[in-house]
Amino acid sequence: MKKIRSVCVYCGASNAVDPAFIDLAERLGRELARLGLRLVYGGGGVGLMGATARAAHEAGGSVLGIMPRFLLQKEQIYTDVEHRIVEDMHTRKQMMFDEADAFIVLPGGIGTLEEAVEILSWARLGLHAKPMAFLDEDGFWAPFFELMDHIIKGGFVPEGFRDALVHCHKPGEAISALLDRAVVLDM
Ligand code: AMP
Repeated sequence: MKKIRSVCVYCGASNAVDPAFIDLAERLGRELARLGLRLVYGGGGVGLMGATARAAHEAGGSVLGIMPRFLLQKEQIYTDVEHRIVEDMHTRKQMMFDEADAFIVLPGGIGTLEEAVEILSWARLGLHAKPMAFLDEDGFWAPFFELMDHIIKGGFVPEGFRDALVHCHKPGEAISALLDRAVVLDM
């Protein structure tokens, strides 16, 4: 059975968000560090991305950031941790996927949504069995889960796929869900 050693976190890059989201990201970063799990993320120093990475690093955790060259300035690459600079977005996404054993989706914008849906679509196609959990405290992702429910009810996605749709409200709960599912999936 493959153990979960690295968790990729997808999350928003915007600084213009409610501080409660930043606080959640910091708590997730610290919890990953406490459990000895490596954080894999997009490499930025901004928004929830930067908050998660700084908190994990400052708590003694291992962090890998993967940043495309054209976003170095815009997303303010965080260089205090191991980081790789790649040439394009596709390479970044593929590397983040390859380096991770599981995924957590914090609140975020279009980029976060795109990354999360891509991982779900690859799972739907049977291309991987790495578990993923959405994490919010305030129901941020509830409309997404309603949409997925609507899609499943419409028959476009089988009922059985509900198992892949995990919604948690505390960092520790999200990490436990990933660890439990890795066992079920016999990774
Ligand atoms: P956002 O959720 O829009 O704040 O973006 C969060 C992160 O996702 C940022 O690091 C973006 O660079 C990244 N991102 C934006 N668009 C995409 C995309 N099409 N594919 C993968 N990542 C993206």
